[in-house]
Amino acid sequence: MTDDNCVFCKIIAGKIPSKKVHEDELVYAFHDINPWAPIHFLIVPKAHIASMAHVGPEHAALLAHMMTLAPKLAAQAGCGAYPEGGFRIVVNTGAEGGQEVHHLHMHVMGGPRPWYKG
Ligand code: AMP
Ligand code: ZN
Repeated sequence: MTDDNCVFCKIIAGKIPSKKVHEDELVYAFHDINPWAPIHFLIVPKAHIASMAHVGPEHAALLAHMMTLAPKLAAQAGCGAYPEGGFRIVVNTGAEGGQEVHHLHMHVMGGPRPWYKG
């Protein structure tokens, strides 16, 4: 369920500090250390799943939870209301997909434009 060499498993375990956004039995959410936008946090499953390429039908409820949680946490973090406001959800997968940390994570970005990146 966890990988001793994984930076996000260490964050979930409290071994590496993070700025918590939300926690429940399935997921942990925290601010990205190198934000692309005025609001940028990550939602990660507590279980170590390497990437979106590793998910199967057994993860359907977890993924639905992450997806439905994102708009709520975005609003709480200060993202403006749709349609003027909004947010971006990104899940980088594999090297060509731009994934650097190999523990599944959903980027949630928002806030007024221009953004620092993207
Ligand atoms: P990705 O390229 O999709 O794998 O994104 C990994 C993200 O994790 C990057 O946006 C990093 O800034 C972020 N990140 C890496 N280490 C930490 C950390 N210790 N705390 C918060 N965010 C981190
Ligand atoms: Zn992990």
